[in-house]
Amino acid sequence: MTIIEQGPLRPPSEANSLLMRLFRSCPWNKCTFCHAYGDEKFEIRPIEDIIQEIANIKAIEKDALEITKGEELSKLSPLGWNKVQGYIVSKYGYQGASMLAWLSFKDKNVFLQDADGLIGKTDYLLEVLDMINSNFKVNRITTYGRARSILHKSPEELKQLYEAGLNRIHMGLESGSDAVLALSNKGVNSEENIKAAKMIKDSGMELCIYIILGLGGVRYSDENAIETGKAIGFINPDHVRVHTLAIHDDMPIYHDFKGGKFEMVSEDQAVRELKMMFLNLDDYNGEIICTHPLNLLTEINGNWPEDKERLLGIIDEYLNMSDADRLNFQLGRRMMVYQRIFDMNYNDRYQKVDSMIKRIGTVDGVVEILRELQKGCN
Ligand code: SF4
Repeated sequence: MTIIEQGPLRPPSEANSLLMRLFRSCPWNKCTFCHAYGDEKFEIRPIEDIIQEIANIKAIEKDALEITKGEELSKLSPLGWNKVQGYIVSKYGYQGASMLAWLSFKDKNVFLQDADGLIGKTDYLLEVLDMINSNFKVNRITTYGRARSILHKSPEELKQLYEAGLNRIHMGLESGSDAVLALSNKGVNSEENIKAAKMIKDSGMELCIYIILGLGGVRYSDENAIETGKAIGFINPDHVRVHTLAIHDDMPIYHDFKGGKFEMVSEDQAVRELKMMFLNLDDYNGEIICTHPLNLLTEINGNWPEDKERLLGIIDEYLNMSDADRLNFQLGRRMMVYQRIFDMNYNDRYQKVDSMIKRIGTVDGVVEILRELQKGCN
């Protein structure tokens, strides 16, 4: 039984959130590096469907409370929990069990899907927020927001949404460079991105932006790094999540890559972009998160500017290695033999990667394997 329809994407920080799909697909769906929605048609889901889905979750909650005789789900013993879960799974299937888990959380968060929650009319969104808040005690409600949709809202509308409980926007800034945004067909320029991001901050909502190392390829590598660093400084978001470009054959950019029109940056160059971006992060106060496995240096995680020296130190430790050690680290990280640079000190792991490199035989051969392994991290 389908309790609630869910889309394919959510931010990493929303792993424990209830995913509530208000829209299907992306209203833009033209970014060259994106393959999230394929050719799925963009649709706004009728409010009646959302009402029904909330009723489905309430039915699970009611059943669970009947079995526990009103005892809070978060306080159940393991035995009590098994009994409730067994019943819910038999009645509602696996999705019922995941809703039950969400209902048991003390801090309940909701993420509104799909790719652009702010494309919805403000009245529609306010109605959904009201329904969520009047049925559940939630801590945080968040959604993705495209710059174009943010700019279509007035500051008053954004404030209204914030006051109704929408308290964080995840925004794909991708790059601070106009050339890179145009190349990747993002549909906005940097000025619009910055303006939209500032509107979110001014409304009171938290802002998490996403940027992509390597998005400008070799040609715009420096510009991507420098302009993105500057844009982050102008916006001053609460969180910056860093990704590194990987190219799949179902992405629009694949044809340019295959045809030689787009040259991907190397693993080393992506790390140099990160450093250059850091060196242009004037006036930024917030969190930097590089933990996504698409990145090479996933240990880069901290607050800016307090952790500036430590984070730059990790980058320099990597860049100062010999060519052979950097290649060893790249393959070891992508093979998940290493999680951080320190792991190269385990001789058995180092030797394992080294013998793999010898078996592959050439640096080009290793690079090809690295690209394949990185694609598995999306
Ligand atoms: S706006 Fe986001 S979801 Fe839509 S195509 Fe671009 S990257 Fe993909």
